[in-house]
Amino acid sequence: MKLIIASNNAHKVTEIKAILSPFFNEIVTLKEAGIDIDVEENGTTFCENAVKKATEILAAVPFADAAISDDSGLMVDALNGAPGVYSARFAGDGHDDEANNRKLVEMLKNVPQDKRTGRFVSAVALARREKDTLTAEGSVEGIILNEGRGENGFGYDPLFYYEPLNKTFAELTADEKNSLSHRKKALTALYELLSKEV
Ligand code: IMP
Repeated sequence: MKLIIASNNAHKVTEIKAILSPFFNEIVTLKEAGIDIDVEENGTTFCENAVKKATEILAAVPFADAAISDDSGLMVDALNGAPGVYSARFAGDGHDDEANNRKLVEMLKNVPQDKRTGRFVSAVALARREKDTLTAEGSVEGIILNEGRGENGFGYDPLFYYEPLNKTFAELTADEKNSLSHRKKALTALYELLSKEV
């Protein structure tokens, strides 16, 4: 069984390979397969985007038996769930993580500490030939700081304070983050769905 990963993000690829290797004897990324396709992420939920990406990529890659994709982002309660599916382009198309973080800090500047709750959410979708597409979600709760801390990770990690370890996600090591992240939880839930089938 050949699985294609609809991502070239090294962190995501390592996690996906580690968790799903019992079910597939070959797992390759789009880049490793020499394929360059861009799927428009225009859904209104993480799950919708993940299913769209996995389905379109499976249709475009004849040698693969299945395609996996993930879509993720940050949902802030005081902003009614924003930036949500717009997390990557919160400060506008072409803006970077720093601009997104600046915009988030600005929008929350008058929000008191106890109202600064939010969560990272990840939806994963596994599209398969002649079988149902499987989907799973994972999330992790945190508090949005008004100033970044830490150098690791990416995206909103410096502003995302994870209370159980008294650290922001950017202060965790890659192994620590990968062991408790929203993506890890979504992939573990997907692993459990696959395990029930065999
Ligand atoms: P995507 O799922 O790779 O498209 O991620 C969308 C956006 O959500 C990223 O560009 C980040 O801004 C944010 N995001 C998703 N996961 C994380 C994370 O683990 N840490 C920090 N930001 C994240």
